[in-house]
Amino acid sequence: MSGYASWRPAGGMNTHRCVKNVNGTSADRYAVPHLKQKYSEFASYPSTCQVLGCSDHATATAHVISCDGRSGGSWSLVPVCAAHNNHYQTEPMYLKTSAQTVRLSKVRR
Ligand SMILES: [Zn+2]
Repeated sequence: MSGYASWRPAGGMNTHRCVKNVNGTSADRYAVPHLKQKYSEFASYPSTCQVLGCSDHATATAHVISCDGRSGGSWSLVPVCAAHNNHYQTEPMYLKTSAQTVRLSKVRR
């Protein structure tokens, strides 16, 4: 059992960041080379998926957008498992409290 666990934390958005996958970023035209390495320049790359309740291996670096309005709609990177990087996955995902996101604007600078 893995992947689509979408646990709702008791504190909701007050304690856990809520994000959504940015549609279509799996497409080659959006690919940023060496995304994992770039993420690692700003945060330590975790071994597991950063979605709350998921303990799968982090195999992808997903483009996500905050759905609580906190970061002004900017895109961020977060390491996730293959299932959570599925670009058809448009349900809100809560991140672990320890999850670090890296703003895409930093990476592209
Ligand atoms: Zn996952």
